[in-house]
Parts: sequence; structure tokens; C-alpha cells
Amino acid sequence: MRVTFVGVGEAFDERLPNTSLLVEHNDSSILLDCGFNVSCGLWRYAARPLDLDAVYVSHFHADHYFGLPALIVRSLEEGRTKRLTILGPSGIESRVNRLMELAYSNALAKAGFEIFFIECVPGEDFKHGGFRFRFALNDHSMPCLAVRLDAGGKSLYYSGDGKPTDATVDLAEHCDLVVHEAFTLDEITTGHGDVGTSLDMARRSGAGACALVHMKRTIRHTMMDVIRMAVETETSVHGFVPEPGDVHEL
Ligand SMILES: [Zn+2]
Ligand SMILES: [Zn+2]
Repeated sequence: MRVTFVGVGEAFDERLPNTSLLVEHNDSSILLDCGFNVSCGLWRYAARPLDLDAVYVSHFHADHYFGLPALIVRSLEEGRTKRLTILGPSGIESRVNRLMELAYSNALAKAGFEIFFIECVPGEDFKHGGFRFRFALNDHSMPCLAVRLDAGGKSLYYSGDGKPTDATVDLAEHCDLVVHEAFTLDEITTGHGDVGTSLDMARRSGAGACALVHMKRTIRHTMMDVIRMAVETETSVHGFVPEPGDVHEL
């Protein structure tokens, strides 16, 4: 399994694209979250963006799915014919259709490819495009589904937004890589993780490594030395802070 960090930022960071991961296994590929400015990053980092099989939306905050119109319309312009699957929480199909109508009305009618929607439910798992999917609810200001992907004997956990819960710790058990939001360094923020809590979640899950993403822009821009020190202090899990374009092979 190959993970490319297309973006690692929070919602409004002027230096970093919104957090988004391109996950590839054999010929299958899925994009995890697609915020406002992610589509350009996908074209920058993916070898074959028109071959993308699916997009997973963790929750309905704009920095996690408002990039879909750009992704869909660029794919249309470039002649995509392959079906695109969009997975997300309950209501995903109506949300995306409304978003497309506002952004580029009638574009879907002109698309030369089908869009197929799958609603994801915590505790229910299924196989799609070479990956096994499982979900659990995070502690966020709106329902957010953390996702676990298994393929080829490797496993990836992606938190979306939110503090860890008992269910997400269970979901991430023994994953090769946990990618967790860490919005703050150590201040307690309702509905968000922090560096220490997210690393501790990965340790409790028995994860092989933990990538910290979606950091508050003011902290990430000015306190990276303190963040790295906190990451190095947690010796029971290999933590790191990825940059856009970084690739992690599992
Ligand atoms: Zn959110
Ligand atoms: Zn977010």
C-alpha cells in the first residue's frame, strides 16, 4: 500500500493544502477527503489522476469535500470515462449533487462517466476496489467517520477530524500507519485532537507509525521545533509530521 500526502493542512492554512491522502494498492486508488484546494494537488502528485477509483469523504465540513466539483469537472474536461465512486456518511449523494449544482450546474449531465455513491456506516464493513473498508465515529463537532483500509496484508487508519474515541482506538488496532489530526499542540479543544492525544491513540492501538496532520496554522507555522520535540518524546510509537507530496510505503 502506498500513501501520498496530497495535503496536510487544516481548513484555512495559506501555506498548506487541506489534508488529503492518495492511497494506492496494485491498480486501485482512493483519495481520502477532498477539501477546497485538494484537486490541484491530486493532479500534481498522482501519476494517473483520471484512473482514480474513489473518493472518501469523512464528514461534511467544506475543507473535506468542497474540492469535489473541481475534481469532477477537471476529470470531465480531460475526458474521463471510468466510473467514480464517492463514499461518505449518510446523505453523501444529495450533498454532492447540491454542491455540483451550485458550483457547475449541469456539469454532471455532461460528464462522460458515472458517479456511484456508497453510504458508510460505523461498524459495517465492505470491500471495494481492492480495499476492505471499516469505519468508526470520532468525537467532532459533526459526525465524522474515521476509516480503516486493509489491502495486501497492510492497513491504514485515517481519522478525519476529531478526538479519538474508544471505537476509533479499536478500529486502528495494529494498523501499519495511523494518520491522525492534531489540531493543537497541547491545548484542549472541543472536537479536535492534539499532538499528545493523537500519538497516545496510536500507541494504544499498537500502530506501527503515526503521521500528524491538520494542525492549526498558527501552531504549525511557528512551533514546529516544539512539535517535533513532542513527537520524539513519545518513544513507543514512531511519529512524524508529513509535508505535501511525501510518500509513505507500507
Ligand atoms: Zn471538521
Ligand atoms: Zn477539517
